[in-house]
Amino acid sequence: MSKESISGLLLAGGRGTRMGEVDKGLQPFGSSTMAAQVLSRLAPQVAQLAINANRNLDAYAAFGFPVWPDDTPGFAGPVAGLEAGLRRAATPYLLTVPCDSPFLPPDLAERLFAGLQEGDADLAVAVTEEHGLRQTHPVFCLLKTDVAPVLSSYLAGGGRRMDGWYPQIKVAEVLFEDASAFRNINTLDELQRLDPARPRSLDQVASCLSGYDPDDLKVADAQRIIRDFVTPVRAVEQVALRSALGRVLAADIVSPINVPAYDNSAMDGYALRGSDLAADRPTRLRVAGITYAGRAFAGVPQAGECVRIMTGGVMPAGCDSVVPQEFVQVDGDAIVLAAGTIRPGDNRRLAGEDLAIGSAALRKGRIVRPADLGLLASLGVAEVPVQRRLRVAFFSTGDELRSIGQPLDEGCVYDSNRYTIYGMLQRLGCDVIDMGVVRDDPQSLEAALLEACENADAIITSGGVSVGAADYTRQIMARLGDVRFWKIGMRPGRPLAFGRIGGQDRSAFLFGLPGNPVAVMVSFYFFAREALLRMMGADAPLPLLRARCAAPIRKKPGRTEFQRGILTRAADGQPEVRLTGAQGSGILRSMTEANCMVVLQDGQGNVAAGEMVDILIFEGLV
Ligand code: AMP
Ligand code: MG
Repeated sequence: MSKESISGLLLAGGRGTRMGEVDKGLQPFGSSTMAAQVLSRLAPQVAQLAINANRNLDAYAAFGFPVWPDDTPGFAGPVAGLEAGLRRAATPYLLTVPCDSPFLPPDLAERLFAGLQEGDADLAVAVTEEHGLRQTHPVFCLLKTDVAPVLSSYLAGGGRRMDGWYPQIKVAEVLFEDASAFRNINTLDELQRLDPARPRSLDQVASCLSGYDPDDLKVADAQRIIRDFVTPVRAVEQVALRSALGRVLAADIVSPINVPAYDNSAMDGYALRGSDLAADRPTRLRVAGITYAGRAFAGVPQAGECVRIMTGGVMPAGCDSVVPQEFVQVDGDAIVLAAGTIRPGDNRRLAGEDLAIGSAALRKGRIVRPADLGLLASLGVAEVPVQRRLRVAFFSTGDELRSIGQPLDEGCVYDSNRYTIYGMLQRLGCDVIDMGVVRDDPQSLEAALLEACENADAIITSGGVSVGAADYTRQIMARLGDVRFWKIGMRPGRPLAFGRIGGQDRSAFLFGLPGNPVAVMVSFYFFAREALLRMMGADAPLPLLRARCAAPIRKKPGRTEFQRGILTRAADGQPEVRLTGAQGSGILRSMTEANCMVVLQDGQGNVAAGEMVDILIFEGLV
């Protein structure tokens, strides 16, 4: 996607009628305001930002972006804000989001852009489907700025609906899975309830869901409650560049220099003045000197002169174009090139083209990858601020569990969950505290949970959260904090305990995963992973892709199924997935044989061969 071609517009021009006429965008939220929160989620997705507002213009200007009031008078609604944006945006595309939607998806621009291109449309709009209800979100739209006149005439004719002008343009709908990302905050009460800065009980968080039933909870709803309940750990440390690999950036890294620092050549060839190029006959230029990468030509070439230049060499003064060496004829101390060989400006890299001085090179919340290390090095950055590592304690519960090295008594199994959990936590970059196996007795469990709570930000247990007779885990967990026990509409992994245990000064988020080895991994990836990343200050939703199914799969609608799959490249070059054999929740071999998980969503029924399904690729998964 060409992010450079998109301007982001925050729609904050409303009257805030349902909030008692306060300016919604400027309401406190989290550690700042709603508008700041939305802008920070939008910023990484677009080339530039602007704000549509009609009141408190100075307060909005303080965010550091242009403020564009409506052209149509009288608080004509978001559609007037859209018009203001379309008329002023300097890019071919405009993305709008409302100022009261602090949870907007991190891939909003990317996905709307893809939908727009695919449908060859003028406007792409976000759509969600929840509990069978399809909803269009016209304030979340990406559109071509050249449709401005169509919108203006709609407004001039008295039109006020955000989607009222759709019949006059070509519209593409883009379906987003996570409806909660489009939630907007309408009342002061909602604002307080959802404010991430305010500690809330699990019941308060769950009350935001329609039809919350702990005994029949949808995967998406459980994920939403968890996401809303956990809070980031706010401690930052400064580390040397290399040590930042895999860590979460704690602040935007602003470029202290232009990259490249000077205009330079993209080719081995001859630097020349574009104005010397003749349109209708060959151009002959005298070679006045030579410039290498790292060693500039000191002189100033005159009209009719050029300079031999190597890739990366500094463009000599007055030169704006480079002709590659293979396109010229050398004739003594001159070169000759045919008319039309290059255009003025060709093969020159401009200073600041990669990154302009003062612009954000990397955003806060990013997990640093090898390319980022290189980018930071190219800026001369030696140290970066990162979030402190998350401390996660984990243990297994069950009297039948034996640790490696112990004899395997009758009816016992080796504890494997502690090893998969260890591996998954390591991949996330957590500091792990392995607390071993804890017996199914109340005292041991209580002692283990309290100790974990003392030392860790989060606790992961496995086993004991279903309703088995010898499982005391549930009772103890419930006694030690704010913990709920859910039955989730999924397979494998129906039971899950989630909450926070401990008191005011020491508390830890708790994930009580089921006992079955495959269920542990599925619940970790689909519930704990994102929550732990959020606690680490990172926003990294699971990267679900689509692949063609090689064979039919039986599936009941009404629950989410996670099946183990093997993804290969089919004969026609397309990705194709087939299931590993047995899919029982205790069969860990199915996980090691698989290279991906097939995710069959809640509403989906049987899958026919050749149909597309969601998959999660294991390789590279953090
Ligand atoms: P539970 O949820 O405690 O009833 O456990 C469900 C199943 O998972 C039982 O068959 C347990 O033996 C098995 N299980 C529980 N914890 C582990 C573990 N740490 N390693 C391997 N299997 C386990
Ligand atoms: Mg058990």
